[in-house]
Amino acid sequence: MRFDVITLFPAQFAALTEEGVVARALQRQLAQIHLHTPRDYTTDVHRTVDDRPYGGGPGMVMRYTPLRLAIEAAQAEAAAEGVQSRVAYLSPQGERLDQRQIERISAAPGWVLVAGRYEGVDERLIEDCVDEEWSIGDYVLSGGELAAMVVMDAAIRLLPGVLGHADSARQDSHSSGLLDCPHYTRPETIGDRSVPEVLLSGDHQAIERWRLQQALGRTRQRRPDLLQGRGISEVEQRLLDD
Ligand code: SAM
Repeated sequence: MRFDVITLFPAQFAALTEEGVVARALQRQLAQIHLHTPRDYTTDVHRTVDDRPYGGGPGMVMRYTPLRLAIEAAQAEAAAEGVQSRVAYLSPQGERLDQRQIERISAAPGWVLVAGRYEGVDERLIEDCVDEEWSIGDYVLSGGELAAMVVMDAAIRLLPGVLGHADSARQDSHSSGLLDCPHYTRPETIGDRSVPEVLLSGDHQAIERWRLQQALGRTRQRRPDLLQGRGISEVEQRLLDD
């Protein structure tokens, strides 16, 4: 899959592209990230990408034309590689993303992500060029770069072959609608606390059962709202009651 990001701060993306799971996926060409700056699509000597808001008030607004040209150039580049990209604007006013949405995003061939700055972008850009608006949570960031990185990280790690173990993503919190179970590694004992015995038993069925029971219990305790949306099977109910 391919992401094209429209950003005034391309250097920030090194956090994603230089080390870790996503960086390795990019090296192995399981995904692509291309960065485009609207400054390259300005015509004035100062390469101005923002201007004062009509009606007055604090802050600046990102101008329509450099953003539109950058989006069109990104879509054309993607199309030249056979990728049809939809355009998403990262915005605190957008639809709040969850794991289901990330799965949908990850299944698409390509996205152009628009990272806003200042007070945001000229509304007419959203009307003319944006297919979807995504929020990563009910709080306000200084810019869309971190939000774009959050989305790309979550989507790319779901791509086949990206995680070392195929089951890792399936077991993660939210994949099955439940929070993940607790995890332990060596040493077996820390102070007076030992690893739950079942995990040392070698009995894979018992381990699976324990993990599901823990995941169900945690979800009920910490995020009962998730269970309400998802429902629980008879088997799961019995595990919860045990
Ligand atoms: N004035 C805008 C508002 O209240 O809706 C906020 C602008 S914010 C300071 C600058 C940029 O950060 C936005 O254009 C958007 O791209 C990004 N941003 C801020 N919070 C975000 C969030 N929760 N999710 C996604 N993007 C966000």
